[in-house]
Amino acid sequence: MYDALVVGAGLSGLVMAERLCTQLGWKCLLIDRREHIGGNCYDAPDANGVLTHLYGPHYFRSNYPEAIAYLSAFTTWREIRYRVSSFTDGRHWSFPINLRTFEQLIGRESSPEEFRGWLDRRRMSFGEPQNSEEAMLASVGPELYEKFFKGYTQKQWNKHPRDLHPSVCRRIPIRTTRDEAYFDDSFQAMPQEGYTALFQRMLQACGNNLDLRLGLDFSEARNRFAYGHLIYTGPIDEYFGTGLGRLEYRSLRFELESYSSRDLARLGRQGFRQPYLQVNYPNSQPYTRIVEIKHATGQDTPHTNLMREYPQECAPGREPYYPVLTPPNLALYQKYLGLAAKERGVTFLGRLATYTYLNMDQAVERALRVFQGKFAAGVYGAGR
Ligand code: FAD
Ligand code: UDP
Repeated sequence: MYDALVVGAGLSGLVMAERLCTQLGWKCLLIDRREHIGGNCYDAPDANGVLTHLYGPHYFRSNYPEAIAYLSAFTTWREIRYRVSSFTDGRHWSFPINLRTFEQLIGRESSPEEFRGWLDRRRMSFGEPQNSEEAMLASVGPELYEKFFKGYTQKQWNKHPRDLHPSVCRRIPIRTTRDEAYFDDSFQAMPQEGYTALFQRMLQACGNNLDLRLGLDFSEARNRFAYGHLIYTGPIDEYFGTGLGRLEYRSLRFELESYSSRDLARLGRQGFRQPYLQVNYPNSQPYTRIVEIKHATGQDTPHTNLMREYPQECAPGREPYYPVLTPPNLALYQKYLGLAAKERGVTFLGRLATYTYLNMDQAVERALRVFQGKFAAGVYGAGR
């Protein structure tokens, strides 16, 4: 008999399991249907020993002191300003849009004042933007929207930006300064030895209070083990047998291209394959971006690799990477939320179970908040 069954060994499930085991002394069973811990944050060496983000690049950044402090107990950090380029019209552009992008566009030096004036003349007014197209037309106007956002968004989601919630494209900052960092957050850093090493330390902290079973689906575990409380971080519609209809998720196909030092030498390169950590392809190519993660991990190795991301439909057997934030999907999620509110002894948590486009620090912050508010506060007692 376990006090809690935690479904999903991604970041949300790991934080919850670690807190319950170490702070409350609960005996927990943590399961994942994949064969590894870490969910989409999982990293591992490729054939040449290059630390690789197998489910897309994971750039840790945060403004939440609690989330940073929590993770810092399990890792040291390598601070970094993540740099991205957007490749369109046959050239690299500074991205996200900033004063340098504007200078590239007009072919001469400029100033924040000139760029602000230029934007003001192009911005369109919608009151409160209702979708991602309106959000971008309101912040940068048609020319920059079409150059950098429209095609990328269509490719990433297989939806027109006008069908997506404004928050999707608003994830990308727009600046009139020369700051070219991809994010605005005050803390931007990668775990020194990678995410999987960090997660292994979290598990070690749990000691004998935690049992971990990988390659095990909840559908099998729910009848095989006795437990008091359930923490569920899988897709919420799946929990309810998709009884109200399927929620839409977006999937990806990742294509890894490894380069040994010899391969690089043959190409006349040393250490790296592309000049940027990430290159976005808004208007050409079937993939959205190519990531050379070594730029961010700072790993000391003469080898490297590139990861290409091809968006794809989330057909059966594929991983659900992103909730698709359209009005019908959000309305259906609200219905599932209604069912979830009636479940006793179950906590729904994380990107899939709350159908929310969560970054890592938000996943940590939410798990910590639920732990403090519900479990540490004694609202939910131990199950044994
Ligand atoms: P997940 O990592 O999805 O973990 C859920 C786990 O539950 C999975 O391991 C899954 O296998 C398991 N599971 C599901 N159903 C079942 C079941 N029925 N039985 C057993 N196990 C089950 N965030 C950032 O902050 N920075 C970034 O740069 C960044 N880049 C990203 C890039 C991509 C391509 C993606 C997809 C996400 C990115 N994120 C990034 C978001 C980050 O991955 C999430 O915030 C984080 O992984 C959320 O953790 P989670 O535990 O909620 O979800
Ligand atoms: N986006 C875009 N052009 C870009 C980068 C992003 O239009 O060059 C839009 C696109 O809709 C994308 C969203 O902004 O899905 C969020 O981008 P982000 O880089 O945060 O995506 P993630 O890393 O979460 O896949």
